[in-house]
Amino acid sequence: MSQGPEAYIDKSRQLKDEDTFCFSCTPDKSCFTNCCYDLSLILMPYDIFRLKNHLGMKSADFLKRYTSVYVGQNSGLPVVSLKMEGPYLKCPFLEEGKGCIVYKDRPGACRTYPLARMACRSQDREGVEEFYYIVREPDCEGFQDGKEWTVRSWKENEGLEQYNKMNDIFGEILQAKTVAGIAYLNADQIDIFHMGCYDIDSFHQYFLEGPNLDRYMESEDVIEVISNDEEALLKYSVRLVKKKLFQAGCSNCSL
Ligand code: SF4
Ligand code: SF4
Repeated sequence: MSQGPEAYIDKSRQLKDEDTFCFSCTPDKSCFTNCCYDLSLILMPYDIFRLKNHLGMKSADFLKRYTSVYVGQNSGLPVVSLKMEGPYLKCPFLEEGKGCIVYKDRPGACRTYPLARMACRSQDREGVEEFYYIVREPDCEGFQDGKEWTVRSWKENEGLEQYNKMNDIFGEILQAKTVAGIAYLNADQIDIFHMGCYDIDSFHQYFLEGPNLDRYMESEDVIEVISNDEEALLKYSVRLVKKKLFQAGCSNCSL
């Protein structure tokens, strides 16, 4: 599948939580694991966090070994994608006879398929409104004899709630960038973005272990929480990136 899933999005129907669709992905399908080749799989900060912990790696080592980074044409921000391997462009986490070796912590995009999540924000309203489209990959047999799901039951089954929540925090950066009217970052800003969003172990070292003015300005309670909870640290670091790069003068960096 050399085309991204967006090429196969069915935009004729927007699905909300109680809407239904039929799908079954089971090992007896002849297409089983075909969808784990030649993917353009963009990793979100929370995907990297889950994968590097699953593999027992430091985030910098994970990024170097498994990913490529480029600056997104539309966003002007660094984008991390999973590097496919070998002549057939296999996902590095697919192993013959074992399937997906990171299944428990597989990326949000792998969990969401055959749906695609659209998250809308408004400047006048708090929070995010979401809906879903169905993605109909032409070689996927999952739509034949599929079991009926609601969007809500699919999200529960795939453990998507935490992924969506963390992706929405990441989405706050894009909104802040739009509001600030900043098109591109300079090299130093790209480094800040990359470390704060993707390289959480280096951020830990930089923010919590070295001399750091931002840390000295933060309350002891917050420092206590982010020192002991890596997921809270990731939330904090993403929001610090937002504040530093796109909200000069804003003092709020909530957890
Ligand atoms: S049914 Fe679709 S999602 Fe499941 S393995 Fe086949 S191609 Fe992949
Ligand atoms: S992470 Fe797992 S489910 Fe996702 S593409 Fe790779 S092998 Fe397939």
